[in-house]
Amino acid sequence: MEKIYDLVVIGGGLAGVCGAISARRNGLSVIIIQDRPVFGGNASSEIRVNIGGACGGLSPNAWARETGIICELFLEERKRNFAPYRNSFINSNFDIVLYEFLRNEGVDILLDTSARKAIMKKHDLIEGVLCIQLGSEKEFVVKGKYFLDASGDGTIAYSAGAEFRIGRESRYEFNESLAPEKEDMGIMGNSLLFLVRDAGRPVKFTPPSWIVKYKKDDITLKLRRHDYLPGYWWIEVGFPYDTIYENEDIKHNLISHVLGVWDHLKNEGEHGFENYVIEWIGMVPGKRESRRFAGDYILNENDVKERKIFPDAIAYGGWFIDLHTPGGILAKEDFPEPSQSGKIEEIEKRIVYIYTIPFRCIYSKNIKNLVMAGRNISVTHVALGTTRVMGTCALIGQAAGTAISICKKYGIFPSDIYPSRIKELQQKLLKDGCFIPGIKNEDKSDILRDSKVNASSHRMLKMEKSDSEAHLCIAIGQKLPLKGKIEDIAVKVRAKRDTFLKFHLRESYDLWDFSSRKDIICRKIKVRKGENIVKIRINREFKEGIYWFFFDENENVYLMESLSQFPGLSKIFRCREKWRFDKRKNIWFEIRPPLFPFQPENIISGVSRPERWTNVWISEDGFPQWVEFVFKEKRKIGMVQFMFDAAINLEYNEIPPFFVPDQIPSHYTISLKSGNRWIKVVEVKDNTSYFCRHKFKPETAERLKIEIFKTNGSRYVSIYEARAYCS
Ligand SMILES: Cc1cc2nc3c(=O)[nH]c(=O)nc-3n(C[C@H](O)[C@H](O)[C@H](O)COP(=O)(O)OP(=O)(O)OC[C@H]3O[C@@H](n4cnc5c(N)ncnc54)[C@H](O)[C@@H]3O)c2cc1C
Repeated sequence: MEKIYDLVVIGGGLAGVCGAISARRNGLSVIIIQDRPVFGGNASSEIRVNIGGACGGLSPNAWARETGIICELFLEERKRNFAPYRNSFINSNFDIVLYEFLRNEGVDILLDTSARKAIMKKHDLIEGVLCIQLGSEKEFVVKGKYFLDASGDGTIAYSAGAEFRIGRESRYEFNESLAPEKEDMGIMGNSLLFLVRDAGRPVKFTPPSWIVKYKKDDITLKLRRHDYLPGYWWIEVGFPYDTIYENEDIKHNLISHVLGVWDHLKNEGEHGFENYVIEWIGMVPGKRESRRFAGDYILNENDVKERKIFPDAIAYGGWFIDLHTPGGILAKEDFPEPSQSGKIEEIEKRIVYIYTIPFRCIYSKNIKNLVMAGRNISVTHVALGTTRVMGTCALIGQAAGTAISICKKYGIFPSDIYPSRIKELQQKLLKDGCFIPGIKNEDKSDILRDSKVNASSHRMLKMEKSDSEAHLCIAIGQKLPLKGKIEDIAVKVRAKRDTFLKFHLRESYDLWDFSSRKDIICRKIKVRKGENIVKIRINREFKEGIYWFFFDENENVYLMESLSQFPGLSKIFRCREKWRFDKRKNIWFEIRPPLFPFQPENIISGVSRPERWTNVWISEDGFPQWVEFVFKEKRKIGMVQFMFDAAINLEYNEIPPFFVPDQIPSHYTISLKSGNRWIKVVEVKDNTSYFCRHKFKPETAERLKIEIFKTNGSRYVSIYEARAYCS
């Protein structure tokens, strides 16, 4: 009999792959249809764009890299791959990781298969998709109950008649400051990347006659950075071409530009590429923008900038509003993206902090059994500038796949989930390793939630001194956790002459909030010329939370920095009116009395990353370390899961080859106590995963203990979350 899948996923980019895996893990029968030989979409070895997310870009957010399935996939790639992670260097390792995961999970796979047309059961219900397979001369229909269009262009959604938008909205439609005066078709274009290699000796390049010639003083390239190894994202062709229907014309055009730019680097002036040869040129244009399908809500610039709190939040973003100049490289005398001019005001207009994406943006408002994920969701052109990065697309994919498992469970459509079942969806996503700002673990079946937690040790917040300094030529400060009575905070400064420092301490809603204009403490402190430890009198009780202090600019002062990294802490600085994170550093400070913000109870705080608190248990140095959960009464336990430290403060392209986050425990045991007897139920050796789920024969117990004997390199252990279930 013809198979009818619970979920048919169209498109094997990161949104589609994460959607398929999440649906399958939640018990659905799933098939994924991908029109090319490999998975990964723009992040595949065919296009080679590096993943970006809320932790990266022009103004990276601290402690914000995505967890969930994308984190599992990405860390697996980093563990195996020898190559750095950046544009053009992406090789087949990621393709094969994606393929392996899908296959291991039991997702049915159709590669080289293009989904061409939706077969409709009714005008608002899809029954199947007509597919054409390359290399086999087959044409067939894949049937399903629900459909996830993650194809970028939304081929199936479009053919089903799903409502969509294309182009740029006018400034007035959503009151968006970054939108043009009048609506138009100036969307972002397609690009080809390329890779070059040092041949060890000078090599000539003779260009074909049809390249686009870029002379030595060409203005186009003056406005485009090319002082680093290609590929260059700005070799982009868009408007007036149509990014869907004229994709092939764009491709030929792009090849002329790629070789034209290479000719410039080799033959027009000194660029340092004499010894370099082309190793690879992309032949599949990477796309950025086309159709955006309408859900019951359209996310816009103000929502993301104001960090609007959506009750149906299912994912988050944080990349800047990255909107390219219409036309791309055809707009010869413009910067390819306005903030490339380096003007602070252009950067400032585009910065966003962590914001949420509502569920109402990821299902079609008029086709009942259709969800979308990736760049085709219900957002304005301006909001797409931030939601389009692949870390964010992957989270949306995971949410879409999980949502369909809820639809199947209750026999409902996606639009029925909000409001009545949204909490169930959010809780499921948290359980599966995702983070949703503002949403806590409220899963009643998690046995650890109301347990008492003890641990072998927990770490004091102590910043190591360093040799580096931050010049107070702009306002500089620090995000940090505070709790209980604080007497004073000390910082180390070097002053060029006797001067005054102005100190402010403020509350924040969460780590990424800078909205408060009200000082809790404001002090003017006299500083003598030379090096000084400056103590700022606080003398105040704090409720547990993330706060920020900063000093007003003072040209004569340098603040000592610390290279110590702790979850929830980050150096910050102000450029004009906007605060930004300097994730690699902290200001050196000392708090009196000492602060212990990494207590074992953080493991059951309900939040699995720094947000309104550190939300992590960090032990002192040395092994073994243990953490124990004491239950109020005996409970049956058959499954335990952990969220270890996935190095979420590092952005994707900062993660080196052969990398495993060093705080992940490699050797640990799980034991249960019943009466006077401890039973070891799990022992793991050589673990490298940040998200671990262990199922075992259920036992009744009054205590659960995890004992860690070794990590992947760190001298201490850190755990963000542990949960336990009956099965
Ligand atoms: C040059 C360039 C640089 C960029 N820089 C960054 C960056 O630094 N970081 C970042 O995160 N993002 C970046 N982006 C944006 C990002 O890559 C896209 O927004 C993102 O890939 C969209 O994800 P998606 O899953 O919707 O689409 P895609 O990644 O395009 O995946 C869609 C998949 O669906 C398949 N497909 C399409 N139609 C069909 C069909 N009919 N049947 C079957 N399969 C189909 C495609 O082959 C593709 O594999 C860049 C984009 C480009 C082009």
